Amino acid sequence: METFSIAYGELILGGQPLTRLAARVGRTPFYAYERAAIDNRITELRAAFPTTIKLHYAMKANPMPALVAHMRDRVDGIDVASAGEMKVALDAGVAPTAISFAGPGKREAELHQAAAAGILINVESELELDRLASIATQTGWPVRVALRVNPDFELKASGMKMSGGPKPFGIDAERIPSVLGRIRQTLLQFEGFHIFSGSQNLKCEAIIEAQQKSFALAVDLAAHAPTPVRSLNLGGGLGIPYFPGNMPLDLAPIGANLAQIAEQARQALPEAELCLELGRFLVGEAGVYVCRVIDRKISRGETFLVTDGGMHHHLSASGNFGQVVRKNYPLAIGNRMDAPADDIVSVVGPLCTPLDLLGERMPLAHAEVGDLVVVFQSGAYGASASPQQFLDHPRVTEVLV
Ligand SMILES: *Cc1c(COP(=O)(O)O)cnc(C)c1O
Repeated sequence: METFSIAYGELILGGQPLTRLAARVGRTPFYAYERAAIDNRITELRAAFPTTIKLHYAMKANPMPALVAHMRDRVDGIDVASAGEMKVALDAGVAPTAISFAGPGKREAELHQAAAAGILINVESELELDRLASIATQTGWPVRVALRVNPDFELKASGMKMSGGPKPFGIDAERIPSVLGRIRQTLLQFEGFHIFSGSQNLKCEAIIEAQQKSFALAVDLAAHAPTPVRSLNLGGGLGIPYFPGNMPLDLAPIGANLAQIAEQARQALPEAELCLELGRFLVGEAGVYVCRVIDRKISRGETFLVTDGGMHHHLSASGNFGQVVRKNYPLAIGNRMDAPADDIVSVVGPLCTPLDLLGERMPLAHAEVGDLVVVFQSGAYGASASPQQFLDHPRVTEVLV
């Protein structure tokens, strides 16, 4: 919430009071993402991290084309997770050499498209490697691959664990030496490793430990590689505070650790470009979801604000996108920012399901029909991660301000 300023009792987004922005957009609900907030975040990261660590944007966090285009000149690469996302990145003018493609279950056609585009493909299985080898043989194109490694450790205290133990992502670390041997017998162009161990982490010690282990693993595996490692993607996992008690990450110790890793890499992997891939950390706090109060009703003593938005646009805030125990995202009445939050209300959407909940029994400023409910921390995993067709309400609008 501290990302944005307040004036005239209203939240200010992109320099405009919220009601004026809503009038400009012309309808609710909408998502608004603020360029300045994204830029500030990137500046913070660049200041804390050594310049040798490249920053990539994992665009599945927010694939809005205008936002991806905004990112093009501000980050060093875009990570895509489908051929559809690859198209958005290429359309935005991102150079193929700055695009990488990870994700299990890439279809044959997607692999062919990615090979034709000349982007770096993070290989998730041995069968995928065989398919790419055939494409390289049939087409003669230089097909660039990195191996996504499923390490033998996990990112501790992560919102979503994506490594360690049996996982659908990547190739088990112990299989990598033999897979590297197989690459030697193909025309594939080996570039390096991709190790992504988890998401939404607010413990810098856990992130540091995972980055150290990932680097050490990459150095071990590099000994088996057919050519020097040119690209090492150390993953990301940097989280943002969503709930009361969450503390924002301290970037300084993470940066200090990365500086050490970069120093070791000069010796151990002299040709490697090191990068981190971040999704929500770059855009999550820069976005809000805005919906309008349609009804205010009391049921057996409890107040409900019924809005025109809900879980069909914002599955994460409803608590149904991977939360074990539902907690409220930070909410406010965006056109009554000066009023005390002394009304205990539940904010619900228009869907006929009790899952359609944006805020449960939380203190907000007194709101009436027509007021604007703002959900903060909504720049990542919002519109594109929500079941917009469920109940066939209008799709949500997105603006970049
Ligand atoms: C989802 C994902 C990311 C981004 O995760 P965030 O938590 O949004 O930073 C990065 N890399 C890979 C491989 C992913 O699957």
